Amino acid sequence: MTCNCCGVDYNKLRETNKIWNQSKLGSPKSVGYLIEICEREHFYDSSDFKLWFNINRPNKLTDIAEAFSVIANIALDDAQMITEHHIICEVWIGWDRESRALQSLQTRYPKYIYSPVTKEEDYKYAVDIKVSLADTVVGYIQVKPKSWQGNADYLITAKQAMKVKHNILFQDTGLKCIILIDNNNNFEFI
Ligand SMILES: [Zn+2]
Repeated sequence: MTCNCCGVDYNKLRETNKIWNQSKLGSPKSVGYLIEICEREHFYDSSDFKLWFNINRPNKLTDIAEAFSVIANIALDDAQMITEHHIICEVWIGWDRESRALQSLQTRYPKYIYSPVTKEEDYKYAVDIKVSLADTVVGYIQVKPKSWQGNADYLITAKQAMKVKHNILFQDTGLKCIILIDNNNNFEFI
């Protein structure tokens, strides 16, 4: 299997996933920030976003790829592809999924108001969308790909981490977060 966006082989990604996560080269902080950029800049597609990144970011993709090539002890060409996938595709795909989810929710349940959360809310509570009725926030939604329903080790760890954050959300606000799955653009709650 290869990525629809950049063509990288998923096996190559799998082999280096742990090192990439540990390296913090694509930390949630920078990814959260990039999602806000996507909302603001209205890129046409992921290559448009990639171009913006290479022009505007102090650490260019090649610098990050060089660092990753050393850390992971892999060829620079591979490091370049893997870096572009994590920084560009993952951010782009996540942003695109969230925008489609917002549209779908607005069409299906029009009496509510849906808005993207701030990056602080996202880090603290693992939420994507705030749901309001008139002026009152009534709940939160997190949007996930279909693969989220699998049982791989990394998914189990991610689900546990998410549960902890959703418990903190409930303690702080009395509100719950429900999961919306993107099943080929058919959004379903689980
Ligand atoms: Zn990709």
